[in-house]
Amino acid sequence: MSDTLAPVRPGKLIIDGAAVDAASGRTFTTMNPATEEPITQVAEAGADDVDRAVRAARKAFDEGPWSRMKAIDRARVIWKLGDLVLAHADEIARLETLDNGKPILESRHVDIDMVARTFHYFAGWATKLSGDTTSINPAWATYTLREPIGVLGAIIPWNFPMIMVGWKAAPALAAGNTVVIKPAELTPLSALRIGELALEAGLPPGVLNIVSGKGSVAGEALVRHPMVDKISFTGSTAVGQHIMRTAADQVKKVTLELGGKSPNIVFADADLEAALRGVTMGIFYGKGEVCAAGSRALVERSIYDDFVAKLAERAKKLVPGDPLDMKTRLGSIVSQKQMESVLGYVEKGVAEGAQLVAGGQRQPVNGKGWFVQATVLAQVQNSMTVAQEEIFGPVLSVIPFDDVDDAVAKANDSPYGLASGVWTDDVKKAHRVSRALKAGTVWVNMYNFYDPGMPFGGTKQSGFGRDLGPDCLADVTQAKSVFLNLE
Ligand code: NAD
Repeated sequence: MSDTLAPVRPGKLIIDGAAVDAASGRTFTTMNPATEEPITQVAEAGADDVDRAVRAARKAFDEGPWSRMKAIDRARVIWKLGDLVLAHADEIARLETLDNGKPILESRHVDIDMVARTFHYFAGWATKLSGDTTSINPAWATYTLREPIGVLGAIIPWNFPMIMVGWKAAPALAAGNTVVIKPAELTPLSALRIGELALEAGLPPGVLNIVSGKGSVAGEALVRHPMVDKISFTGSTAVGQHIMRTAADQVKKVTLELGGKSPNIVFADADLEAALRGVTMGIFYGKGEVCAAGSRALVERSIYDDFVAKLAERAKKLVPGDPLDMKTRLGSIVSQKQMESVLGYVEKGVAEGAQLVAGGQRQPVNGKGWFVQATVLAQVQNSMTVAQEEIFGPVLSVIPFDDVDDAVAKANDSPYGLASGVWTDDVKKAHRVSRALKAGTVWVNMYNFYDPGMPFGGTKQSGFGRDLGPDCLADVTQAKSVFLNLE
């Protein structure tokens, strides 16, 4: 563990196979939200640095070995990167917790494992991508080639920085693309460290570049760069809409993974102890700063009062603690601004008639930090602001429903459609409701589980395109049709 306690090195950009300063020499301070203290300085990429990174990626794609090497050799390098993430697990997990404020239990034992599995899973796909042969006309030989798209730009949020690097880079690299990633300004450290490890794993120069910096500068430059073939974005709906509009000028491809207001539906016939655990974990895991957070609990009216009382009891036991302490289950909100936004929503909920039954306050740890108590709002109507807008914090809105149709109608009455949960012991009901929900993911009698082998993404204003699973390979490749005249 000794290296995990070392001071954090300043963050450098990863461009063209080297860790470098910004051309301007500019840096920004990344802060620890749990202590309100600076962690270290990080190179701040300007448009010129993004240009260098994109040109390196372009050259690596057009001339370099990556897209032309044997698939098995690409697979070996990607696999090795997964191994290196595991070998440096303590160090990367600590960076993530310092930067983001999430409990070390989550970064060390959940996020690291997810990143490594993502690299390992997609390493396997490098050798399995294939086109089709078709028999359309006896006079022709017709087939498709499944080809990489080229230079992919990825813009990622602050809630799961290291996981997002894995989700965006692993499939793209497996398919032979080159990549430029712009991490969120609040949490650049783990992405930059994985960028260094990628070089150690043997990724050729320019194949994976990481440019930390502001969204309005570095992010914007990446989206506007004419040598970038596609942007894969995960973040807020507002920024996603802006990126889509900007990309339209060059007819640049985009994949958008945006926000959510996911319903977690509890039927009276469910295993209620399991549902209680699942609903609690579904909103308070990751401090609720999870795009798929089950932020609306829809609870059948016959069990509503009792279930709310038990939820409140559980929430009150979940006290904020030092994120670096392995026993902590509720960490710090990522920033003061985000904390104020979360507390503002709680106030608004109460003003609109919701009943505050647990939490609702800031609760510093050792006198510092942007911690918010696990909060439960009861008697929420689905039309209230707290049920319609994404809060992105540890705030659960509990809404009663009458029957299956009412549950489905309320669940789908949202501009978002990212994830959803269903708790029932009736297998037919589970299948029927899973089909009726407008969401990219449905969890039945479980919540917040992910696997590299299962696609993740949204419907409606939660976005389009998929990360993970075999489906995401369609988002990082394109088919080319070849017609050959046999006559
Ligand atoms: P954000 O949209 O503010 O920022 C996301 C990224 O976009 C950051 O890297 C930021 O620097 C960059 N950015 C900002 N302005 C830009 C611009 N003009 N051009 C290019 N890039 C720009 O979101 P956030 O606050 O970092 O993250 C929280 C949001 O992300 C939430 O709404 C959450 O639901 C969403 N999210 C969605 C998923 C998903 O898979 N659907 C996953 C995680 C987070």
